[in-house]
Amino acid sequence: MSAQDVAPLRRSRPRAAWHTGTVVETRRETPSAARIVLDVPTWPGSDAGSHLDVRLTAPDGYQASRSYSVATASPGGQVVLAVDELPDGEVSPFLVHDLRPGDQVELHGPLGAFFVWRPGESTRPVQLVAGGSGVVPLYAMAAAHGAAADATPFRLLYSARTPDDVFFADELAALAGPDLALDLVYTRGAPAGWPDPVGRLTREALAARTLPAEQRPRVYVCGSTGFVETVAVWLQELGHAAADIHTERFGGL
Ligand SMILES: Cc1cc2nc3c(=O)[nH]c(=O)nc-3n(C[C@H](O)[C@H](O)[C@H](O)COP(=O)(O)OP(=O)(O)OC[C@H]3O[C@@H](n4cnc5c(N)ncnc54)[C@H](O)[C@@H]3O)c2cc1C
Repeated sequence: MSAQDVAPLRRSRPRAAWHTGTVVETRRETPSAARIVLDVPTWPGSDAGSHLDVRLTAPDGYQASRSYSVATASPGGQVVLAVDELPDGEVSPFLVHDLRPGDQVELHGPLGAFFVWRPGESTRPVQLVAGGSGVVPLYAMAAAHGAAADATPFRLLYSARTPDDVFFADELAALAGPDLALDLVYTRGAPAGWPDPVGRLTREALAARTLPAEQRPRVYVCGSTGFVETVAVWLQELGHAAADIHTERFGGL
């Protein structure tokens, strides 16, 4: 391989490094989550679906770091995160309640070479399946798909507790249409007149509201560990090849 062959590869996948981010804005995303916008002048950009590690240091030197998906697939400069609070968690309550504009945080990334989608890379249709905050990297993919005016068929099945718990609700509503087939499943409460049953996603609902295996979609599944494992098993039972199912587990049950 010549140096000319290597250079474009390096450009397309920026190397992970440490960066300092300054909080520009933090606002409520859902009743339990915050959207955090960071100015990161050295951020090299990231593919849709990538994540980064946030490292916090206490005054006594104690450090804690957690992974968060990047909700934007921008060329660089600004990074948007959406963090759901686990009330008994160590890091997420601080990020949701205590972070203020002007605060600085250490970031390591971009990370995650396998759970990414790049415009123009493949014409195979894409099926996204999200549980709760697991929609963050999938929203980044849907937004990148829309921004690139990419012709790949895209469909998102999103399981949320109630309409208030939908992350990026306005942005997803704007993307829904020819660019993105959007299917919502509500597990605890739906809008008045909602035609579908309220409750956890079932195998039947997954089969009815996702692209069939015969279309050979690339499938991206993200959410809590239990959600992702259940959906991945069902997808294989429905005929999807294991190699076509990309998963990202956010932890928890
Ligand atoms: C690649 C990757 C990307 C991620 N992206 C996001 C993101 O965009 N937004 C986001 O909100 N989170 C995301 N997470 C989850 C995040 O990294 C933390 O796990 C989460 O914020 C909890 O951290 P904590 O310190 O508050 O809780 P901890 O102190 O780590 O854990 C507290 C308790 O909650 C349980 N737990 C841990 N994670 C979860 C979970 N997700 N759901 C339910 N129970 C859990 C643990 O088992 C433990 O019992 C991502 C995780 C990974 C691996």
